[in-house]
Amino acid sequence: MNPHDSQRPPSVDALARDLAVRHDLPHAVLVDCARSAIAAGNPADADRLAAEFHTSLLRDVVNATGVLLHTNLGRAPINFSRQARSSTLEFDLATGERGSRQRSIGSLIAALCGAEAALVVNNNAAAIMLVLGALADGRDVAVSRGESVEIGGGFRIPDVLEQSGARLVDVGTTNRTRLRDYAKAVDSRKNDIALLLKIHPSNFSVNGFVEETPVSQLATLGVPVVADIGSGLIDETCPWLNGPTPSWLAGEPAAKQALQAGASLVTFSGDKLMGGPQCGIIAGNADLIAKCSVHPLARALRPGALVISALQDVALAYLDKRVTSDIPFWAMATTTVDELRIRAQRIVDASGVGQLVNTAALPGAGSTPGASIPSVGIAVIGNHLATLRKRTLPVIARVVESNTVLDMRSCFVHDDDELIAALKSLPTR
Ligand SMILES: *Cc1c(COP(=O)(O)O)cnc(C)c1O
Repeated sequence: MNPHDSQRPPSVDALARDLAVRHDLPHAVLVDCARSAIAAGNPADADRLAAEFHTSLLRDVVNATGVLLHTNLGRAPINFSRQARSSTLEFDLATGERGSRQRSIGSLIAALCGAEAALVVNNNAAAIMLVLGALADGRDVAVSRGESVEIGGGFRIPDVLEQSGARLVDVGTTNRTRLRDYAKAVDSRKNDIALLLKIHPSNFSVNGFVEETPVSQLATLGVPVVADIGSGLIDETCPWLNGPTPSWLAGEPAAKQALQAGASLVTFSGDKLMGGPQCGIIAGNADLIAKCSVHPLARALRPGALVISALQDVALAYLDKRVTSDIPFWAMATTTVDELRIRAQRIVDASGVGQLVNTAALPGAGSTPGASIPSVGIAVIGNHLATLRKRTLPVIARVVESNTVLDMRSCFVHDDDELIAALKSLPTR
């Protein structure tokens, strides 16, 4: 029976069973689609709702946007798979007793950053929240007016401070904040400054008559300095590259140097320039880290075994100098333009579609504002974004001056054959 043919509206159940022929979705989901369509007086629409639901499921894509850490596409891509097994998440193999989930990952991260200790939480927003809640609840935190910023979807420093129970003390001006502005705030009898919070304005840059106070100067005021470096560059000398620091990292603050300069704590994201899973890292002074880890929020913000395991792989890759081979972000970022050009040419030759263009890839995720990495793209006349998105393994590209451009730098070699198939399927042939 085709439920659409009957005079009366089909029953929800009959329509759901009919949808099951075409849509590989759980019965309960199909029932929902059927019910919504019937309620709207348009049972035939149930197919579209089911297709829409299927498209909305989380799945892998090929990131051909040229934005390496694309926040909407999950930032740093990671290699990760494991079998169903228990782990030593909170178990000490030496004693057979309960262990700490933070101890070993904390010491690996501390070693990486040159810190006394480190703590891993759900993301950098959580890291800042926890630091403020644990170290400045009911007290004042000095922030430069030039750094009182909004970082992506609704994360605004003044709001975060308010939420944490700390009070914001604005320091300096939008374009210039000097050491004496901070000193004035610290010395004022009206204030009870617990921390100086320095935030890297990671998603914009200000040019002209600007001045900020470096961590090394802030550290002279006798109040703990917390540096939110955001992007998670571990060491500005990039010792894992066996070469000079790439120019696209110029001006990017790094965890190791911020701590060396006197920051008591640094906070950063694990899934930006570090190249790991989504998490937030707090590293620095052991006493302050200990205060953070016993705060009730720490339990609510703690990472699970999947994240710790993936982050451990990344930390070990840094310590073993396997960064450019084993951390996908760094592999993408350091591939030579020649190599990208060879791959692009092979894809164009094999598909018979498109032509090579020079492009500027972006590190992304609000890191390194204004910086780009030379890259190679495949340009196809016309806007094919929607067609590319409809593939089983969707390809996310961008349109530049009425050409669809697939940037090779954010695509992995193991997807090159997918790109060939995707180009072959375009109607331009
Ligand atoms: C990205 C960023 C954040 C937010 O980090 P999440 O890991 O997304 O929570 C906070 N501060 C700075 C400076 C950032 O760049």
